Amino acid sequence: MTNTAVTKSIIHVAGYKSCGFYRRAASVVASLSILFPNKLQVVEHEFTSREEYREWLINSGSDGGFRDKVTNKVGNLRANTFTSSPFCWLANTSDSNNVDDITDFIGGCDDTLDWCRNFAQPPSSTVQKEEEIANMVPDGHTPSHSYDYDLLILGGGSGGLAASKEAARLGARVAVLDYVKPSPAGSKWGLGGTCVNVGCIPKKLMHNAALLSEGYVKDQSHYGIGVTSELEEQWMGMSQDNDHSTTSQSWETLKNNVQNHIRGLNFKYRVDLREKEVTYLNQLGSFIDEHTVETIDKKGTKGSITFSRCLIAVGGRPTPISCEGGELAVSSDDIFSLDTDPGKVLCVGASYISLECAGFLRGICKDVTVAVRSILLRGFDRECADLIGGHMKSEGVKFREGVVPTKLEKVNGDKIKVTFSSGESDEYDTVLGAIGRSGDTGKLGLDKVGIQVNPKNSKIAAKYEQTSTPNIYVIGDVMDGCPELTPVAIHAGKALARRLFGGSTLPMDYRNICTTVFTPLEYGTVGYSEDDAIAEFGKENLDIYHKYFVPLEWSISPSRGEHQGFCKAIVDKHTGKVLGLHYLGPNAGEVMQGFGTAMKLGCTFEDIIETVGIHPTTAEEFTTLSITKESGEDAAAAGC
Ligand code: FAD
Ligand code: NAP
Repeated sequence: MTNTAVTKSIIHVAGYKSCGFYRRAASVVASLSILFPNKLQVVEHEFTSREEYREWLINSGSDGGFRDKVTNKVGNLRANTFTSSPFCWLANTSDSNNVDDITDFIGGCDDTLDWCRNFAQPPSSTVQKEEEIANMVPDGHTPSHSYDYDLLILGGGSGGLAASKEAARLGARVAVLDYVKPSPAGSKWGLGGTCVNVGCIPKKLMHNAALLSEGYVKDQSHYGIGVTSELEEQWMGMSQDNDHSTTSQSWETLKNNVQNHIRGLNFKYRVDLREKEVTYLNQLGSFIDEHTVETIDKKGTKGSITFSRCLIAVGGRPTPISCEGGELAVSSDDIFSLDTDPGKVLCVGASYISLECAGFLRGICKDVTVAVRSILLRGFDRECADLIGGHMKSEGVKFREGVVPTKLEKVNGDKIKVTFSSGESDEYDTVLGAIGRSGDTGKLGLDKVGIQVNPKNSKIAAKYEQTSTPNIYVIGDVMDGCPELTPVAIHAGKALARRLFGGSTLPMDYRNICTTVFTPLEYGTVGYSEDDAIAEFGKENLDIYHKYFVPLEWSISPSRGEHQGFCKAIVDKHTGKVLGLHYLGPNAGEVMQGFGTAMKLGCTFEDIIETVGIHPTTAEEFTTLSITKESGEDAAAAGC
């Protein structure tokens, strides 16, 4: 089956002619079907008398009545005891004799009116925004308090800085403490937190270095621009060749330029805070009591600050590798500022950080191996994760599957010998541990303010970002259950500041957050993975549209291979609502950002395919999706 439009809901309404409830349900559904002819169709089954209707519905004979057939088909026991009029159900066709066609039981008149209300309602995200308010516990704040600050923020990262500026804009007196404890390998950095210094920003710049290198080798000559055979050899033959002495990619230049850019951002953040009248203190804070923190600066000078409200936004730090010799590994806190070329690298872990780092290191011609404990990208769409793994392998990244390191030891001077749980071993110049992150709460003195952390990840539980101690709040990576993403921390910080100082009651909406994994084949996604959607809604209730395509910019480079781009839409068969979107290809973050807004507005598949595409782009592939997995048709795209 090739679907080009959303599946239409077909409602069957059965009842007897003189029944007011039957006439009411039938006329409401009929009116809706006039308003939404592409989405809804009504099939009326009108019986002349109550007796005739009940005979059809209940029939005491051996086959039972229609209600028994519905129960048998959809397993709804309520249908089995139904006696009144109307009796309403959903089917794929208008053929009322085809009992196998029944897809769901709706119920009687009231149930049908409820169904219609849901059908005609604005998208659920809008409804929730209007209805849900963040009911926070009173925290004792009054404008006339005598503390030093209205709001003291611990941590000047993505979330803390955003919250501080918003609160100050709303008239609050705000201070931010930001202090970086050096990594075990000794790396330190400036104001701005993980994203700017040791996360998104250096990662994306180094990813871009890799994309440039890849484009240079794979595409440039086909566009008539010269490429050196030396670099081409490095790209194509790296997995066998461990000698990096001839590499024409300069780690030093890349690292220095990235670090200089970061220093510029650190400076801009300080200026920004000054201009917005937020007090910035380069000091480490820990609680003394519910309205006081102790501060300590880099010279060891101690002080204290009082506050009416406090926001904990201290983020997380990489979880260290715990095996013998684990201290020889570096982490994402160090990799972007290594003084020496990373050389031959082992990346331990198989999620965002490990795969992104493995990808950019391979892209700048390093010999890279990934140690995978179980699966790639747990929690993401399996099909997409496997395509990413396959692509990385084809680019020369080596994978050691189902292993963890059991021992790291220094050998031959600066080499690190790694022994794996499989018993095998190998030597590397750099071992990068990327096995997850834990809340940076160890030295916060949370016991002094009655706040407990989750022992599994050292993070703090909260409702509407409010902790168990009402005047102490938490946002970003250190909040238990919060997706570890910069825009999430920023959004939550601003929303909280507006609630605390601007009279807002709007909660942070943590649903349908889009994200991109910056692996060599980039992956943008929003909403459900295919497996999660099947688990929650059932395969029979989903249409899964998919398509492989060749991004135009890669199409004249034979070494790019066939059909590397991929997109997939997971759609509720009955409502047409899009439950998940997945995209593999160039500029995945740019592609997915707009679809994130569409998802927030509760878009349907029809909305997407009715959107006129921008040609020639890869994002437009979503607007031309038509092949479902169920159809078994070839999902490889043809031409325009
Ligand atoms: P942070 O940014 O971590 O800020 C916390 C700050 O508090 C730090 O400066 C810390 O030093 C300071 N601090 C800690 N304790 C104290 C204390 N007691 N007193 C004073 N200051 C203290 N997200 C994305 O959205 N996109 C990406 O592409 C992306 N890539 C990433 C790549 C890597 C390698 C990593 C590690 C993360 C990446 N992330 C990405 C995640 C993103 O960086 C985080 O989600 C985000 O930085 C969290 O912000 P935050 O404000 O919660 O904490
Ligand atoms: P993560 O998503 O928590 O994944 C941890 C990885 O390490 C998993 O593959 C896990 O394997 C593995 N692992 C855990 N313990 C291990 C052990 N003892 N030995 C070997 N392997 C182990 O952590 P992350 O990749 O470090 O990323 C942290 C967060 O940063 C992410 O959740 C993300 O939100 C954020 N981030 C975002 C971006 C982006 O937006 N592009 C980029 C980077 C980071 P199992 O599957 O077997 O558990």
